[in-house]
Amino acid sequence: MSVARLAIATHNAHKVGEIGAILADLIPGLAAEDLASAKDLNAPSPVEDGISFEDNALIKARALAVSSGLPAIADDSGIAVDVMGGAPGIFSALWSGRHGADSENLDLLLAQMADIPDEHRGASFVCAAALVTPAGEEVVVLGRQPGRLTREPAGGGGFGYDPIFVAEGESVTNAELEPARKNEISHRGLAFRALAPHVAAVLGG
Ligand code: IMP
Repeated sequence: MSVARLAIATHNAHKVGEIGAILADLIPGLAAEDLASAKDLNAPSPVEDGISFEDNALIKARALAVSSGLPAIADDSGIAVDVMGGAPGIFSALWSGRHGADSENLDLLLAQMADIPDEHRGASFVCAAALVTPAGEEVVVLGRQPGRLTREPAGGGGFGYDPIFVAEGESVTNAELEPARKNEISHRGLAFRALAPHVAAVLGG
């Protein structure tokens, strides 16, 4: 039986898949069995009381590095709507009041934006990616995917606000993109590609 070398601080299976695919492309020899999620490790979820994406990513990675004894990576992400001053931002996952209620969050955001004309529907997905080692080494980087909000959900892929977001340069929502294309241009792809050399160095690659 192989032993995991890297812990990922998320319980979201979709994110584990996205992050695993992004890192596997960049870190030679990194296999799925090298990764263990917070769920696999039965790790407690820390209180995310940071006031920025970077703070919260570091809080999650630090807690998992301590509880697992492995180098740990974490992300904190969300959608920032221009006309809303960057909200929902770090509150994206619980915007409708219940953590992770994806379709309720999306419906509420569309309702709040109902009277806003197309030219003012700019928004970005933002992702902070953090790496923390058990020895206390820390790196955090930020990725941003600019785009705009649609008026109706479209597409069955992705998660969260993907069905109502069209990235700059694309003509379909993130939920209609092939997963590999989403990873190529997404905030999470950008952030984890910037983090990958640091992860490779820590893993001895
Ligand atoms: P986190 O798990 O605390 O980072 O919360 C992220 C929340 O932001 C998710 O619940 C989604 O609502 C939203 N979000 C983050 N990244 C994405 C994405 O790639 N697509 C769609 N929604 C996202």
